Amino acid sequence: MILVVGGAGYIGSHLVKELVEKEEVVVLDNLSTGHRAAVDSRAIFVKGDLGNEEDLHMVFRSYPIKAVMHFAACSLVGESVVDPLKYYQNNVASTLTLLKVMLKFKVKNFIFSSTAATYGIPDVEVIDETSATTPINPYGHSKLMVEQILADFSKSYDLHYVVLRYFNAAGAHQSAAIGESHDPETHLIPIILQQLLGQREKVSVFGADYDTADGTCIRDYIHVTDLAAAHILALEALLTGKKSAAVYNLGNGLGYSVKEVIETCEKVTGVKANVEIADRRAGDPARLVASSAKILSELGWKAERNLEQIIADAWKWHQQQQY
Ligand code: UDP
Repeated sequence: MILVVGGAGYIGSHLVKELVEKEEVVVLDNLSTGHRAAVDSRAIFVKGDLGNEEDLHMVFRSYPIKAVMHFAACSLVGESVVDPLKYYQNNVASTLTLLKVMLKFKVKNFIFSSTAATYGIPDVEVIDETSATTPINPYGHSKLMVEQILADFSKSYDLHYVVLRYFNAAGAHQSAAIGESHDPETHLIPIILQQLLGQREKVSVFGADYDTADGTCIRDYIHVTDLAAAHILALEALLTGKKSAAVYNLGNGLGYSVKEVIETCEKVTGVKANVEIADRRAGDPARLVASSAKILSELGWKAERNLEQIIADAWKWHQQQQY
């Protein structure tokens, strides 16, 4: 049985929907930002908090867990600057509690959701796993700290792990049964699509004076279903002993500017966006584009879906959003 912590959240719920095809799954989520309706009905759902040892003991006592996938984190850069305590408490301290209980119950396989924010402002065009990790905000620091904890634990204890550094997760399940739903929404693609649906007045472009071809920030958008597939390969690699300590980037290797994303949304939907140029958002690097060559060569993973498919699936979801 696989424990998915944070399995009611955006990325966790998409992973669960794929994983239930192969494994028995128990989801632990405190529903602080996740949605009960997003959890596939084939998974067991437990409402609880990963910072609470009692909740964890109950889950590990009740189910024969052979691996843990950890999606339960706070993930907003701006919020992490305003409230770093929340980020170190939830992302670092609670993860340490989870790892402690895993060790106690001799569960030795762990997959950790990390982030491109661990790289800070990169000094290379395309980031690979050897690029310098110098975060510029508490969110990035909190994720990098857990990566360090995992590296140290794997040397001292019987703990095997894979860290997956996501670039910009986007899109929705192809069935449109689940998708992205944050409150408040801060991410670019849902904000554009909500504007196209008339649910918000305008799209603000956060800075058009960056050192990029059109002046707007470039990001590497990756379909959430492609992310889910990478987790399943990482899990197999751990369970078969193929990997015991690995860090991988997950991206498309393609960068799109904010303006290009808006244009692609207009093209896919046939609706024109109402756009304004606004000030830069604090903590945004001009360009974040991943090389995912390492996970391709070691686990055979690559992104299958391009930006148009990401937006087409997200559009289907937003038109009939259920939660
Ligand atoms: N962005 C924007 N307007 C918005 C939301 C985001 O211009 O309303 C920009 C943001 O500055 C960044 C890119 O879109 O350059 C992607 O931002 P998002 O919040 O989706 O993801 P992040 O890169 O922060 O993980």
